[in-house]
Amino acid sequence: MSIIKRRAQLLCSDAFAWLAAIAVGSMIYITNAYLDLDVAPTLFYITLVFMSANIFPVPVFLAVALGCLTLLTADFLVDEGYRDHRGIAGFVRCVIALTTISLLALRSKRATETLRRKEAFFLGAQKLSHTGSIGFIIDKKVSVSLSWSEESSRIFEYPQSVTPTLALVKSRTHPDDLPVIDQVLDQFARRQELIEAEHRLVMPDGRIKHVQMIASPMPRHRGRTEYAGALMDVTASKQSEEALFHSQATLAHVTRLTSMGELAASIAHEINQPLAAVITSGESCKRWINRPEPNLEEARRSLDRIIQNSVRVSDVIACIRALSRHSEVQRNVEVFDDIVSDSLTLMQHDICFHEVRPHAQLGTRSALIKGDRVQLQQVIINLIINACQAMANVHERARTLRITTSILHNEAVLEIADSGVGIAEDILPSLFDPFFTTKPTGLGMGLSICRSIIEFHGGRIWVNSTEGVGTQFVFAIPLAAPEHDQ
Ligand code: ADP
Repeated sequence: MSIIKRRAQLLCSDAFAWLAAIAVGSMIYITNAYLDLDVAPTLFYITLVFMSANIFPVPVFLAVALGCLTLLTADFLVDEGYRDHRGIAGFVRCVIALTTISLLALRSKRATETLRRKEAFFLGAQKLSHTGSIGFIIDKKVSVSLSWSEESSRIFEYPQSVTPTLALVKSRTHPDDLPVIDQVLDQFARRQELIEAEHRLVMPDGRIKHVQMIASPMPRHRGRTEYAGALMDVTASKQSEEALFHSQATLAHVTRLTSMGELAASIAHEINQPLAAVITSGESCKRWINRPEPNLEEARRSLDRIIQNSVRVSDVIACIRALSRHSEVQRNVEVFDDIVSDSLTLMQHDICFHEVRPHAQLGTRSALIKGDRVQLQQVIINLIINACQAMANVHERARTLRITTSILHNEAVLEIADSGVGIAEDILPSLFDPFFTTKPTGLGMGLSICRSIIEFHGGRIWVNSTEGVGTQFVFAIPLAAPEHDQ
């Protein structure tokens, strides 16, 4: 509703109040002067009460009403109206009338104030939520007339003084979305229970707005169908939806790049370990040969280790090649204990170098698993290297490495337990995350790769650790042919 319209309404109601006051005042005068009725002052007080109910806040209004009652009583006492029965009865009637009317005026004043407050809340909520109300009246000839709230006119960006029409709505609607409006009109004509529509508006400056409308029918009145609806400007949420979609696409791109980075890091990690072993063994071979009396037996052993580790490098590269060709990783039936003991043999040198005492208890005999031998060796070697490194600074107790295999619930289980520094409880959850490391020169890819390999074999890997006591890594993979638990 426009401000001018509201002002005009206020002026009208004020003029009406004054006219009413003049009329009541004249009645009081006539009754007092010509009819000699004792109700004339009461009428005057009633007028006062009514007028103050319109003008003043509740406390002032109550004071006026009480003042009127007091004056009425004072009048009664001064005129000595209590001397006859007629006077007393008239006074009681006037008091009852004035009190009742004051209470009624108070009630209606409270109701009006509550209504005004609710309207203010309603308008505020509409403004905050960018939701306006909209009404449609469809007459017998199926022509539609509209009404809307301030917020709706703001959404359509029409001045509040403009009378809403269907033509105005259509002229703001995006040309491609005009069929949506026709569809809504058709639903009105069919008196559909709930009408929902979403379309775009084009503002005069070319801005696009997205609006959603929901309307339901009101009880039929004089053959007319009336719909009450809500109109919501959803442009902001549409824009954030689009922004989210855009960020998801960017994220997917970054993820792809990150995976490539992860792959590169994992390749470096997997090749680095055997290459380091090749260098160490090569140097020790040179030392054995350069001695005044060359120790050919030791030199030969070093050369064996060089060959074994070089084969590992070439296996890893073969694996990566297979990966890049998207070909399947080997899934051969293997003896689980053989994979474990081969890995131990490969690591013998490292274990001795770190002065670690290994205890192997291989108890799965000829249990078979289906998988990639090289990949599983990578896991075991990685766990042994980590265990040895965790014990490097342990001097006060024996550096022990327990390697145990068993079968449990049709799974081949491997436990690698060390007496190293252990792992703080707060970092346990991040241990298998890519690039998580506590080592100054660590890559933090080892455990993440171990988990991928074990999961690829349909298994699980987990860790138990007590800081300052030691760590136990366990993995379990399904058996190729189920056996009885051992
Ligand atoms: P990196 O060895 O390159 O740090 P890993 O993924 O193999 O990467 O290991 C991640 C982290 O897990 C290590 O930095 C270390 O803090 C911790 N960790 C792994 N194994 C052990 C272990 N046996 N004892 C103590 N900490 C370990």
